[in-house]
Amino acid sequence: MAEEKDVKRVMIKATAQMEQIMADYFYELDTAAKDGHKPIAWCTSVGPVELLRAMGFLVYFPENHAAMLGATRMATDMIPEANAVGYTPTVCSYLTADIGAYLKGVTPLSKAYKGIEAVPKPDVLVFNTNQCRDVQDWFSWYSHEFNVPVLGIYTQRGVNEVGAALVTSVAQQIKDLVPTLEEISQKRFDLDDLKRVLALSRACSTLWQKVLFTAANKPSPLTFFDGAIHMAPAVVLRGTPQAVAYYQLLLAELEARIEKHVAAVADEKYRIYWEGMPVWGRLSAHSKLFSGLGANVLASTYCNSWIFSDFDENDPFNSMARAYTKLFIVRSDEAKEAYIKEMLDYFKVDGIVYHDAMTCPNNSNCRYGMVQRLEKETKILSLVINGDLNDLRMLSDEQTQTNVEAFIEQLEEQAG
Ligand code: SF4
Repeated sequence: MAEEKDVKRVMIKATAQMEQIMADYFYELDTAAKDGHKPIAWCTSVGPVELLRAMGFLVYFPENHAAMLGATRMATDMIPEANAVGYTPTVCSYLTADIGAYLKGVTPLSKAYKGIEAVPKPDVLVFNTNQCRDVQDWFSWYSHEFNVPVLGIYTQRGVNEVGAALVTSVAQQIKDLVPTLEEISQKRFDLDDLKRVLALSRACSTLWQKVLFTAANKPSPLTFFDGAIHMAPAVVLRGTPQAVAYYQLLLAELEARIEKHVAAVADEKYRIYWEGMPVWGRLSAHSKLFSGLGANVLASTYCNSWIFSDFDENDPFNSMARAYTKLFIVRSDEAKEAYIKEMLDYFKVDGIVYHDAMTCPNNSNCRYGMVQRLEKETKILSLVINGDLNDLRMLSDEQTQTNVEAFIEQLEEQAG
C-alpha cells in the first residue's frame, strides 16, 4: 500500500489580505442591508454580476454562502430543513443547505464576522441557467420569501460550438434586464459604467488565470485546495479594484516561489488533476491525504471556471454573453473532453481524479463514459471518488482513503 506521511505544505502569505477584503465585502453588504444606502442584488456565481455592479448594486452570491456552510461543516445539519419544504435529498446540496440555514435562522457569517446576524436581504435576484436549472428554483424560492423580483437568463446547455445565434440570444437577454434593474436601483444605465466594470472583471480573470497556471511549473507552487479557497474574490468581487489588487499580490507571491523552486507540496512526486466540485467539508482532509502520499492535486476544471477570457469592454453585452456561455459546465461532452485533454497536457498531469458529487450531476462528468474515453486516448490513469460538495452523509472517508491510496500505488507502479 502507498505509505502516507505528514508532508509539509507551504501556507500562502496573501491569505491575510484575502480575509480582509472578504470581511470588508460582507460588512459593506451588511451595512447596506441595515441602512438601505445601496440596493442589493443576489446573483448566481457565473451570472451577469458586471451589469449589476455597473447599475449600482452591491452583489451577494448564495453559492458562496452555501460553500461556506459546507466548509464550516454546518451544511449537513441544514439540509433536512429544506427537505421538509419539498426539496429532495438528491437535489443540489448548495440549494438545500442554503435554504435550510435560512429556515433555521443561522449563517456562518455570524461566526466569521462579529455583528452580522443574517444574510443581506435582496432587492432583486438574478440567475443564469448556464450552470444548471437548480439556481432558478433556488432564487425563485427566495423571491417568494422576500417578495422581491427574480430575473433570469435562460441559456441552453450541452453546447458544442458557441455560435453567433446563441451569443446574440444571451446578449439580448442580458440587455433585457436593464429596464427592471433601473427601476429597482433608481439609477439610469450608463454604458461607460458597464465598460469600466467589465474591464476590471477582465483584469481579475487574467490575473486569476495566471495564478492558476503557475501550477504548470515543476514543482507546482500551488494546490487545487489553495485555489478553492483563493478563488473567493474571483467569484464575489470580480469587477472591483479590490479583486485585481488581491490577485496581483497572490501572483507575485507564487512567482517568487517559482523562482526559488518552492513546492506547495514538498517532494512532489505525482501531479493530479481534479475534475468536479470540491468536497467543501473535507478540503483540508483531502489536501493532507494527497500530499501525504507525495501527490499534488494542482489543477482543476472547477477553479478554472472563473476564467473569462472573452470579456471585452469594447463589446460588453456580446462578450459577456460569449464568456458566460463558453464556460465548461455549459458545454457538450465533446467540448469538455477537448478542454480536459488540453489541461492534462498543459499541467503535465500523471493522474486525474473525478469527484462524482451525488447532488450535482452538472459538475459530475464521470457518469457517461468520459472517464474511459479519456483514459483510452491519453493513457492517463483516473480514479472516481463518490461523494458530495456539501452533504457529508453522501461520502465514506474510509472508502475515499483506500481508493486514493490504491490509485497512488497504481501511479507508482506505472512510473516503475
Ligand atoms: S452547478 Fe451544481 S452545485 Fe452549482 S448550483 Fe447547480 S446543482 Fe448546485
